[in-house]
Amino acid sequence: MKIHELHKNAKVPDDHVAIKFKDRIYSYGEVDSLIDKYASFFQSIGVKKGDRVALSFPNCPEYIFSFMGASKAGAIVVPLNMMLTLEEIAYIIMESGANTIVIHPLIAQKIDKSQLGRLNLKNVVVLDENTINAILKMGPSQHVEIEPDEVCTYIYTSGTTGKPKGAMLTHNNFIADVKALDDVSDLGPEDNFLCVLPLFHSFSWTVNILLGFYLGSAITIKESFMPKDTLETLTKEDVTVFCGVPSMFAVLMRMAEKGQFKALRLAISGGAPLAPEIQRGFEEKFNFPLVEGYGLSEAAPVALLNPLEPNAIRKPGSVGLPLPCVEAKIVDENDNELPVGEVGELVLRGPNIMVGYHNMPEETAQTLRGGWLHTGDLAKKDEDGYFYIVDRLKDMIILGGFNVYPREVEDALLEHPDVLEAAVIGVGDPLKGEEVKAFVVLKEGAKADKKELQNFLKYKLASYKIPKIFEFVPELPKNAAGKIQKKLLK
Ligand code: AMP
Repeated sequence: MKIHELHKNAKVPDDHVAIKFKDRIYSYGEVDSLIDKYASFFQSIGVKKGDRVALSFPNCPEYIFSFMGASKAGAIVVPLNMMLTLEEIAYIIMESGANTIVIHPLIAQKIDKSQLGRLNLKNVVVLDENTINAILKMGPSQHVEIEPDEVCTYIYTSGTTGKPKGAMLTHNNFIADVKALDDVSDLGPEDNFLCVLPLFHSFSWTVNILLGFYLGSAITIKESFMPKDTLETLTKEDVTVFCGVPSMFAVLMRMAEKGQFKALRLAISGGAPLAPEIQRGFEEKFNFPLVEGYGLSEAAPVALLNPLEPNAIRKPGSVGLPLPCVEAKIVDENDNELPVGEVGELVLRGPNIMVGYHNMPEETAQTLRGGWLHTGDLAKKDEDGYFYIVDRLKDMIILGGFNVYPREVEDALLEHPDVLEAAVIGVGDPLKGEEVKAFVVLKEGAKADKKELQNFLKYKLASYKIPKIFEFVPELPKNAAGKIQKKLLK
């Protein structure tokens, strides 16, 4: 099976609801026909097997049709975070070798399209009404032979090296994750997933769209998480499953009354640590499972999950057990397995793990050494086999589910002529989990202030990466080797 065929797996009737978006409902039959029309469109503009097609969209059904259509045409899809600046997009286009970019009209308004002209792209497609109408008139696509172990997606995820790396994922990688999620759940065609998380991120792509299609469920798509709107949807509509990041559950727990959710029976949290008091409090108040899981782009993405059945043991603070297809263990710096209770790096093995990073043989060899994905997360395991994420080896900051790599922000700050040194860390934030803070040492006589530096970064970094807090210091604490000691800054 390939990801663009998942919607046919459950063999639900053609008129069964697949997608709800605003006032529009798409049936499974329509989804099948639209995926083919989009595939045909990509073929008509010269997209060939193996070509990379970048997509920049807010949440909407056309994103799904573009993704699946490009995949059916044999292309490798490169989802772009819609908040990226033109400079960040340009880097990914060049690194991935994409020759086609499809952008939503709202994104097209935001960026200077003439700048995309520099990038050697064969096609810059703005998916406006005219283009969509043209696509709807397309005839059947030409069959392209695709093997399930071929790469279908590059997901760009930043690294400690600063620049984003393209995790190469195959059809099999995603489908293994979807099947494992199906194995541990009792979800099916009668379920309705509410999707508020960004579709360009693998959490909502796999757990809402791919799993929803595989099961023949309905998927209710929202442009983003707006607390009042989400609450209204959960109160009035037959949504049964809700996936979110921890900050969303904190808000819902505060706002919703007992018994207010109409049909909701399962909530899944991932992307960042879920506070035990929220996990417990939520389940007590609403009387259905709030299940924490753990994943990363490189694992397509879910690897660990607490049990989903209402009466199973969910340990607050734990990210649960490995999915049936996943092996997980804790290792020391020499990759030797550590006993129960000891903290080390979490490593993973299984059919959902990426084949490597695009064009980065050294990073790939390092991350996948010994056949195990080194997650860069510090964790421990208890005597019942439940895993706990303790800290991060990688320097990453997580704000409401979005990841910020300090190195990328530091490098951007250092490009300012007034900045001598910079160190970026995450500090606690009650709503988002973490907020970005920069410590800056200015050059002698230099006068740049917070506003000036934030303005400077606006053109280089997506807004969520720009530090909200600045502290100007005469020097940064360093160890004997001259390495900045972030622990002391914290
Ligand atoms: P991404 O590749 O953007 O999906 O980010 C993956 C990273 O998010 C992981 O390596 C973890 O550091 C973090 N993460 C995901 N889920 C959890 C969780 N439940 N608890 C703590 N950290 C998490």
